[in-house]
Amino acid sequence: MRIRGMLAEPRFHHVMTPNSEMLVEACRNTAFRKILQAAALNLPDSIGLKWMAHLTGQTLPARVAGVDTVMALLKNLPEEHAVFLLGAAEGVAERAGGVLKKMNPRLKIAGTYAGSPGREDAQTIIDRICQAQPHLLLVAYGAPKQDLWIAEHARVLLSVRVAMGVGGTFDFLAGTAHRAPRWMRSVGLEWLWRVLLEPWRLKRIWNAVVVFPILVMRYGREAPTL
Ligand code: UDP
Repeated sequence: MRIRGMLAEPRFHHVMTPNSEMLVEACRNTAFRKILQAAALNLPDSIGLKWMAHLTGQTLPARVAGVDTVMALLKNLPEEHAVFLLGAAEGVAERAGGVLKKMNPRLKIAGTYAGSPGREDAQTIIDRICQAQPHLLLVAYGAPKQDLWIAEHARVLLSVRVAMGVGGTFDFLAGTAHRAPRWMRSVGLEWLWRVLLEPWRLKRIWNAVVVFPILVMRYGREAPTL
């Protein structure tokens, strides 16, 4: 896996998992767009990206869900690459860490902390991470906040080799949120599951399911600035 190679290199890499609504956000938010374009690796985390790539003559072999990437990466991660779990509601990262540790007893969890993406918390978080010295930093503040946070603080996180925004991954691992059934995921209906379970996401899902395809059909590969 490419991310494992990045962990072996002693320099910083930002891994992102763009989905359809993140690309709509990138059309409106220049800072976020630049971060996406500069990422060391972008893993397509929505079926919409795969479909729209196809429509514009490009190929994306598969959707790669953030939570699946995290699990595949941590399942065999050796202890020399300690991981820090940042974000989600109080106690969730810790519980997710417990689940991951069961999956891979050799996994070294350097620390967990909820914190918040607000400026007032930044120094406390940085101090904790610098003290814990992880190679891998997983940040669960939702997009775009998590990636803006990573990009803003990358240069002071000296031990970190890979930082990745992981959205709801800790909630899925801790069991505070439930993924769509496998059949819904396989036919590209995970978004519908989320509308049913979390109707307050409707605006984001509207952006993913309606605005994103309209933008692609209208502008093709040339992303507009909205
Ligand atoms: N979150 C947080 N602080 C914030 C906003 C979000 O800790 O200010 C956490 C939230 O608790 C959840 C995670 O960010 O655990 C991911 O949020 P969301 O489900 O919106 O992300 P998605 O998976 O849709 O990218």
